[in-house]
Amino acid sequence: MAYNKDFRDLTSFVVGDGSKIRFWEDEWCGVGKLCELYLRLYKLSDAEITIGECYERRENQLIWSQQFRRPLLDREVEECILLLEKLEGIKPAFQQREKLWWKEGKNSKFTVKPCYMALSSSISASSHIKGTWENPVPPRVEALAWLVAMDSVLTVDHLKSRGFSMANRCCLCEGQEEDATHLFICCKFSSFLWKVFTSMFGASDFHPTLITEIFSTWPRLSGSKKVNLLWRCILFAIYWNIWKEMNRRIFEDKAFNMDKIVAAVGRSVVDWLLILPEFSQAEREDFVIRLGEFLDF
Ligand SMILES: [Zn+2]
Repeated sequence: MAYNKDFRDLTSFVVGDGSKIRFWEDEWCGVGKLCELYLRLYKLSDAEITIGECYERRENQLIWSQQFRRPLLDREVEECILLLEKLEGIKPAFQQREKLWWKEGKNSKFTVKPCYMALSSSISASSHIKGTWENPVPPRVEALAWLVAMDSVLTVDHLKSRGFSMANRCCLCEGQEEDATHLFICCKFSSFLWKVFTSMFGASDFHPTLITEIFSTWPRLSGSKKVNLLWRCILFAIYWNIWKEMNRRIFEDKAFNMDKIVAAVGRSVVDWLLILPEFSQAEREDFVIRLGEFLDF
């Protein structure tokens, strides 16, 4: 049963034949997760094994059994006895359909709001993705930034780990292996973009090295709130235009030169942020002129 880990933590199970519920990692027997209660045994077991693979029905009896990777030591045998004693007292309804039980909210009734609140709090607690949401950029751009911060973009290294057979070569520089940190930070193509815009905003000391650290280390400038908003928008615009260039090269067999990419980053910022009424026409023009002067167009 492939549930997102955070979502699964908010649920428990009502056992049917046990074919879909994981014995160790799902909460099903009313005393918590067995992987947390019997950690030594869990480490010696198949984490994915289902309840249905852990018992036999003989006549009217239920016989629990477990396969471990090696013979148990004395301490582990004691733990195993405790586990079996615990299982003896459990009478699952094996004839019924298995059900997912919602632990949050009133009367265990599922509603969207408590689910959203619970998942949001677990997401915002992770500092490396803090700040990826609620920005003045389109949701699809925030979604990309979130995936980048989670190191979950489908770069070549991830595709290879999923079994795709292909050469690992960066689609931008075609010289180094491609992973998210290389693609979005270290590639000579991307590092030029960072250099241009950090220099433009007087933050050229900022040298990110890990993709998972960008949001937590992105500097705050000494300027006004509007300047900082603009500065934050730059981060998203760089990610977005690297991503677009990558797709352009892979799917359209076309490529922008570096000046065009820099201009595209600037245009994204104008389209997403500077077009808002908080920014005047003069501020929009000033940004475009500064960008042009900086690049010596
Ligand atoms: Zn590269």
